[in-house]
Amino acid sequence: MTPARFADRVAGMKSDREVYSALRILSDAEAIEDTRTRRDCVVRWIASPEQVQELAADGNGREAHTGRLARGPEGQLGEGSTLAEPSHLWPVLAGLARASAGGERRLLRLSRREVARWAGGSFAAARRTLDALQLAGLLGWRDDGERSGYVPVQPDLPISELPVDWERLASRRGLELRKLRRMERYAYQGGCRRRYLLRYFGEDFGRWRCGGCDRCA
Ligand SMILES: [Zn+2]
Repeated sequence: MTPARFADRVAGMKSDREVYSALRILSDAEAIEDTRTRRDCVVRWIASPEQVQELAADGNGREAHTGRLARGPEGQLGEGSTLAEPSHLWPVLAGLARASAGGERRLLRLSRREVARWAGGSFAAARRTLDALQLAGLLGWRDDGERSGYVPVQPDLPISELPVDWERLASRRGLELRKLRRMERYAYQGGCRRRYLLRYFGEDFGRWRCGGCDRCA
């Protein structure tokens, strides 16, 4: 059954997007398993090849910096937050740059497995990084959820015992919504893209500008 048809049959469900959200929550909690773990995701660059190459190259020289970011900003990301990991940002960016010949190939179809490897093995982590890069206006991406199938990991488990931490989910949702609104403000203010990305990961650079991105140039 497709998510759209499923949504039609469930009272109170407004669209198939809610089905996708639910599937995402359940698979993040490892309550359900995607039967097509090898399926693809599609990435389209918005950044120019020059920007892609510059950002990826910059990441390589930023080991110390990303290490510092990875330790987490003070108080901004609460415990249990599942926002993108700072340490995943540059490896994913560098992987995308490599796979696209430095941004020359504008549209990429990538196996989720490969993208997951860049983010330390988990596609859930890679997805959050892709979302951050998308919000930064560097790329657009989607995965092919429509063609996948999901099965419960433990078919006999009652719903009340699903390994989903509902309270944490609710507080995470609030946190991510606040974060999203803040990111939207940055995205529309037209400031430096690199500062904006770092800011997403909790590092405050004040009015610093990198001088290299399209917004700064
Ligand atoms: Zn800049």
